[in-house]
Amino acid sequence: MPPKFDPTKPEVAALIKEFEAFGLSTNSATELVRTPKAGNAFRTLVDENSLAGKSFENSQANALVKLSALGAKLSPDARKYVLDRIVAGDLKSPDQVAAGVKYLEKNPSLPVDTAAFDKASGVGVNVTTADLPALLKAHAATLSSPPKSWSDQGPFLGGIKNSDSDLKWAPTADLKAAVDAFFTELFGSREAASKAKAEAAAASKAKAAKEPKKKVAAPKATETTYDASTSNSPYIPTRIFQEGFLSEFHKVGGNPQINPKLKEEHLKWTKGMVYTRFPPEPNGYLHIGHVKAIMIDFGYAKFHNGRTYLRFDDTNPEAEEGKYFQSILETVRWLGFEPWKVTYSSDNFDKLYALAVDLTKRGGAYVCFCDAEKIKADRGGGKGNPVPCEHRDRPIEDNLRDLEKMKNGEYQEGKACLRMKMDLSSGNPYMWDTVAYRVKNAPHHRTGDKWKIYPTYDFTHCLCDSFENITHSLCTTEFVSARQSYEWLCDAVEVYKPRQYEFARLNLQGTFLSKRKVRRLVEQNLVKSWDDPRLYTIIALRRRGIPPGALLAFVSELGVTTLLSETQLQKFESTVRRYLEDTAPRLMMVLKPIKLIIDNVPDDYKVPVQVPLHPKVPAMGSIETMFTKEVYIDADDFRTEDSPDYFRLAPGKSVGLFKAPYPVTCTSFKTDSNGNVTEIHCNLDNEGEFKKPKAYVQWVQAPGAVHVDEVRYFHPLFKHDPPPKDFESDVNPSSIEVFTGAVVEPAFYDLAKKEITAARTEAHTRTLKAATENEVANDEAKPADHVPEAHGDEPVVTADQLVGMENIRFQAMRLAYFAVDSDSKLSCLDEAAEAKPGKRPGDKIVLNRIVSLKEDAGKKA
Ligand code: ATP
Ligand code: MG
Repeated sequence: MPPKFDPTKPEVAALIKEFEAFGLSTNSATELVRTPKAGNAFRTLVDENSLAGKSFENSQANALVKLSALGAKLSPDARKYVLDRIVAGDLKSPDQVAAGVKYLEKNPSLPVDTAAFDKASGVGVNVTTADLPALLKAHAATLSSPPKSWSDQGPFLGGIKNSDSDLKWAPTADLKAAVDAFFTELFGSREAASKAKAEAAAASKAKAAKEPKKKVAAPKATETTYDASTSNSPYIPTRIFQEGFLSEFHKVGGNPQINPKLKEEHLKWTKGMVYTRFPPEPNGYLHIGHVKAIMIDFGYAKFHNGRTYLRFDDTNPEAEEGKYFQSILETVRWLGFEPWKVTYSSDNFDKLYALAVDLTKRGGAYVCFCDAEKIKADRGGGKGNPVPCEHRDRPIEDNLRDLEKMKNGEYQEGKACLRMKMDLSSGNPYMWDTVAYRVKNAPHHRTGDKWKIYPTYDFTHCLCDSFENITHSLCTTEFVSARQSYEWLCDAVEVYKPRQYEFARLNLQGTFLSKRKVRRLVEQNLVKSWDDPRLYTIIALRRRGIPPGALLAFVSELGVTTLLSETQLQKFESTVRRYLEDTAPRLMMVLKPIKLIIDNVPDDYKVPVQVPLHPKVPAMGSIETMFTKEVYIDADDFRTEDSPDYFRLAPGKSVGLFKAPYPVTCTSFKTDSNGNVTEIHCNLDNEGEFKKPKAYVQWVQAPGAVHVDEVRYFHPLFKHDPPPKDFESDVNPSSIEVFTGAVVEPAFYDLAKKEITAARTEAHTRTLKAATENEVANDEAKPADHVPEAHGDEPVVTADQLVGMENIRFQAMRLAYFAVDSDSKLSCLDEAAEAKPGKRPGDKIVLNRIVSLKEDAGKKA
């Protein structure tokens, strides 16, 4: 460990000097010494590469520090590669290093594809201050929602950093200054704009003050098109399809085709209707990012009265498992979408192969016998400038014969592949004779041993889109460069060519979504399962109690553009909170109960109190609760000693109990041998003049109180945000907090029954409707002979999949929003059970906190 930081100590000063000698500024060198972790990492890099005694340009030195911070993500060889590129002066800034490291993380195989690496990390891009104004203008023109005022400056800058524009390689300070100038040109000076904004705000406040009676408007930015009387029926946002990126697509048939006949056929088949698809790879559970894709794919079609396929992209025989097919279909439906058809890329294997033969006959493909390394070298060995493969110009008959041999299993894996004969002069690596088919000796879950060769994503995706007459093929921006090859192939075999549009992925800060990482947590038992409510898989969010509509609202409020960004978790939670605020019924619950006894009423004192389930939504109805001699209040609402800034219960003090006819005043209390309060005695203030209490607290009638076995509060899974690379060791052991002993008012059972019954009704209606409208195999409504040719692992559709304990959601007043966990058992909810609500032997109630009531409370708790 380096010595504790004190820059005046001689050895610390010497260390700073030593770092400065590499070319670092005094500030950076000091910062490195101050943070031992960073300092050690830098020292390791220096030692590993014998850099001691060398000196660099300041920018190179900064780049080296960046590499030392990020390099642990790379293999030693890849790290050395980046180092060499810094030393050679190719990578000139920390941003470039970060981009380079990111590229190598994604593309770890060596040798490095230099051209692709250079492109990803901006090597060779030289943006001067003089170039900036024109580049900014050009960049703004590519945006689907260009900046509209100064307040868009942050997102605009962020968008540049995530874009493909050369701008992102400009020095940050220069870029910032140029953007300031650009915004000033567009919107006038920032000062004037903020003054105008403040004046407008003041004016509207003054206006509001003049009309104090006016009703508060609906919560901002939400579309109130959902059914406010329940949080269970998903609603599908429409605004994002009406304006912005998703409103600017072509009309059906408007996408160009290589041959006019193809357009005619397409229009004839689609009858002008929109067709989209959601194409997950069935290799894991879906996560919150997929909500965005699902909403866009299904939502776009629905908005235009079109249809959507759920297409399992199952061309990789090794990664798939039956349970994922089932879970994916359930998840899509739970979000409120019904696929028109469920299809499988693998069902097209015959057709795809026929087209591969056709393409080869047309001279558009050739069998290549190079190994992976040679193919890579021909593709420019990473430096660009691809050269033709030696097999590129073999006679068509030879290619046809060898393709057939590949199919018949006469070649070993890696010995032959089919490559498309594309365009080596293109600047786009996707055009450099991309592989179409490879030999793979693995049985496929649907086609068994039939195939020894499997088509690649690049060959499969566009053609399956074409077979299904997809009008708008919507995907994420990593596929922008792939669009050229997508279109090339459709044209080369003269089939209908769908139009691909790309939108930005959803990223959440402080969590990861990657299946690979979540799998590590599950396999090491660091979380309970894939649906552990601390995770961001959709099944976990569902279990935690997040309503599907809240997920859709979240995604739609973020908007859909091509700009990548990271969204904060607080934003997610605040959307959920706002959604539940309008839709969740309210109950009284006490987390840490203490019995409060009212001494001045008879033992059988009982006052029925009618309480609306939601103060603003009369349609939710009301419940009856009983005000009795003995009630529970929360330990946190009582203090043994009063103080002037405290308004709840204390000896001699009075407090209101929600909806109870009178307040109570504390007369005495009892404690156990440890000094914990066990009982509070009060008098009901039912005599004399009614005094409005300063504060109200929640309470639960003692007789008939429902005892909750566990209340689970979830906290961030990791101790650090973002979690470190070895995130397994960063798991916070207290990320689940369990309260036992909570009580909730008896109306809980009525509510539970009501919510489940409503959810069942909705699910059955929707499932039946979908069965008549769609062609998905449906266990409830389809005769067996209507089910398409079965392979044994078709996911089944039932109404029950949409119903779960999480449908029982409520706001516990003054506490938080809760949902019943799937670990619970409530026999009274069985359809067969007699109607009477209540706890039966063997029953168990577990509640999950969905979100806190307020953001601050969330941070504290
Ligand atoms: P991951 O590797 O993160 O699990 P993926 O891209 O492999 O995701 P697929 O199952 O292949 O997942 O994706 C199905 C669809 O969902 C694709 O169209 C993909 O673009 C989209 N998608 C995946 N992740 C996101 C995300 N974070 N935001 C938006 N769309 C996404
Ligand atoms: Mg994938």
